[in-house]
Amino acid sequence: MSISLAEGIRDIPDHPSAGIMFRDITPLLADPEMFEEVITQFVAGLEGEVDLVTGIEARGFILAAPVALALGVGFVPIRKAGKLPYETESKSYQLEYGEATIEVHKDAVKAGQRVLLVDDVLATGGTARAGRELVEGLGGKVIGARFLIELEALEGRKALGDLPVTSLVTY
Ligand code: AMP
Repeated sequence: MSISLAEGIRDIPDHPSAGIMFRDITPLLADPEMFEEVITQFVAGLEGEVDLVTGIEARGFILAAPVALALGVGFVPIRKAGKLPYETESKSYQLEYGEATIEVHKDAVKAGQRVLLVDDVLATGGTARAGRELVEGLGGKVIGARFLIELEALEGRKALGDLPVTSLVTY
């Protein structure tokens, strides 16, 4: 039986602000068959190709950690500013309104390590691009990105240049 992942995504109009259609993945996460299917599709073809998996706070963590374990590699959190306790590198980027900053521990990635980037939604691509720049600033090589959802109209792939990007549900 094939699983329709789109059925696990709930649309919430005007959250967190007017005009935004929030794609809520909590129904999917609550369904172990759907959740496992996401992880299975994320890791396909990556065995032996990745040294670390990085996830972007907060929903990226939920998806990235099981991917790391499935691939037998470590997990690196990229967090919002001010959350990580040790020395960090930071990257600021533009949001639709205002600016955001994300951080990674300075020793989280070693030079030459192959890193997979994971998040729940690819929208404008600004968050993922900043994550890629953080990892590459530490000498890592981002070899690909995996998103559960891609909002195609926002052209986030363009922000990621030549990076191989896979998304499982597109709108
Ligand atoms: P962006 O940097 O524009 O690609 O936005 C991606 C980040 O914002 C991801 O970490 C998502 O969790 C979140 N995000 C953006 N748009 C949505 C949306 N429509 N529904 C849920 N999350 C979103």
